[in-house]
Amino acid sequence: MGHNIAIDGPAGAGKSTVARKVAGRLGYIYVDTGAMYRAMALFLSRKGIGAEETEKIDKACEEADITIRYENGEQIVLLNGENVNGLIRTEAVSRMASGSSANPNVRARLVRLQQALAAKENVVMDGRDIGTCVLPEAEVKVYLTASVEIRARRRFDELAAKGGTGSLEEIAADIRERDHKDMTREISPLCQADDAVLIDTSHMGIDEAVEAVIALCARD
Ligand code: C5P
Repeated sequence: MGHNIAIDGPAGAGKSTVARKVAGRLGYIYVDTGAMYRAMALFLSRKGIGAEETEKIDKACEEADITIRYENGEQIVLLNGENVNGLIRTEAVSRMASGSSANPNVRARLVRLQQALAAKENVVMDGRDIGTCVLPEAEVKVYLTASVEIRARRRFDELAAKGGTGSLEEIAADIRERDHKDMTREISPLCQADDAVLIDTSHMGIDEAVEAVIALCARD
């Protein structure tokens, strides 16, 4: 079993940036589980399947072979052998992923892959259910969050830098909807594990959050 760090929390809290930096500092592998759910969402969308079509998702997800490999330290997600990194960060895929990730079959397949990775490597893994479900024995568990307003503002600035046109209100509404879906689904809803440490990044820079996680690792 590798030495494992679990980082969970809602979209836009800074999980991936913090997890990637912590992994770099410790020489661990960073595993972005959201990217796997996104690749599955892309696969289902390409088949014309909607997020609510449970039976179709149940069947179709069996045909999606999702694996990851690393190139220069970067996680590459392969969907039936195709590198889909450049295709999974759209708002449409975000919405589909938030719907299709509630499907038990989808989760079972991806959780197996995540657990297999953590069994053979030291990992910093981020997602929604890592501390509660995927790696309940992780040595360090963090629940990273921030207010909806702050998360929406960060996303707005990120999109604006890329020339995006969405309004702050629309982005906040989208975040609220995704939070609600992730927190109220029946299987592995997003919640703070009993033994996870809460870090609120609303008024904290990335480096400060990274130091807070590293300090927890040093504690163990
Ligand atoms: O983290 P990211 O925003 O890329 O995740 C996309 C979607 O995948 C989330 O909204 C969530 O519904 C789902 N997800 C999940 N469990 C995880 C990681 C992501 O259900 N461990």
